[in-house]
Amino acid sequence: MKNIYDITLENLEKDLLEKGYKKFNASQIYDWLYKKRVKNFDDMLNIKKELIEYLKQNYTFSTIKLIKKQVDIDVCKYLFELEDNNKIEAVYMKHNYGNSLCISTQVGCNMSCTFCESGRLKKVRNLKSHEMVEQIIKIEENLNIRITHLVLMGIGEPFDNYDNVINFIEIINNHKGIELGSRHITISTCGIIPKIKEFMNYDKQVNLAISLHAPNNEIRNKIMPINKAYPIEELLKTIKEYVDKTNRRVTFEYIMLKGVNDSEKHALELAHLLKGINCYVNLIPYNETGHINLEKSSKDKILKFYDILKKNKINVTIRKEFGSKVSAACGQLRSSIEEEE
Ligand code: SF4
Repeated sequence: MKNIYDITLENLEKDLLEKGYKKFNASQIYDWLYKKRVKNFDDMLNIKKELIEYLKQNYTFSTIKLIKKQVDIDVCKYLFELEDNNKIEAVYMKHNYGNSLCISTQVGCNMSCTFCESGRLKKVRNLKSHEMVEQIIKIEENLNIRITHLVLMGIGEPFDNYDNVINFIEIINNHKGIELGSRHITISTCGIIPKIKEFMNYDKQVNLAISLHAPNNEIRNKIMPINKAYPIEELLKTIKEYVDKTNRRVTFEYIMLKGVNDSEKHALELAHLLKGINCYVNLIPYNETGHINLEKSSKDKILKFYDILKKNKINVTIRKEFGSKVSAACGQLRSSIEEEE
């Protein structure tokens, strides 16, 4: 049986038309699911009994369970249990521009970035689209808010689960569904070039962020093994193609790691590398964890790095730091729970 949150409006219309129902029935169902937020098929009051029965026999409802929540100023971290008992995380962050949510796209991750807690837990499986949709629904309900900005940057590499991620975007972007504007959705990738090329041809204006984290191959090979398959020069060549083709600005994420990638020389190298690309750089103060032997750069270092990029005409921001009371880096809550178990 398919999950009802897995299905795009278009596919639901097709399915219902094939079974002799009306196209508008699909819009009614979407309305109950995403606008009125009912929790079972019986609550869809204007749908005929016969169709309710059909839905019950062919579709399942929500499957993920909220099992833990950590709260700090302007940030909430959520741990969910999936139907097969696997666990994933999502993080809500309140920004001055809106309510932002970072969700997971896989259980674990195979990319093995050395600074990342999620990567310590190898990929178990891809998330299905409905498991991504449900992260949004559960958190909106829990906080009684609407999410305005979505980032696919939690546990997992979204482009390693490309088809489910695109199907998910089709569902949440639909104006009869959750209606999250595509310009408010960002997919973050560690740089899987063939998928970036595929994504260039996707017709929605979804933002792309690249986890760069190093100004050269020598450092990037050490902290991001994916760089051995897709080295920086090829990655940037592809990004230039992407920007030319889509006319969209790209974000480069850069985690500031003490003594690894945070010197003035590195800042100059990075400025040189990104010169002429329509982009901005997001400097991210590292979230230290008990398991990984890396430290965050000092405030001074981050500010110097920032100044050098600015002077070299690179658009740059420093990501707001959220309370360390919550296990803020993705993967930390899940791994702490699994170690307790
Ligand atoms: S940083 Fe992203 S791509 Fe790298 S291991 Fe972590 S989740 Fe995977």
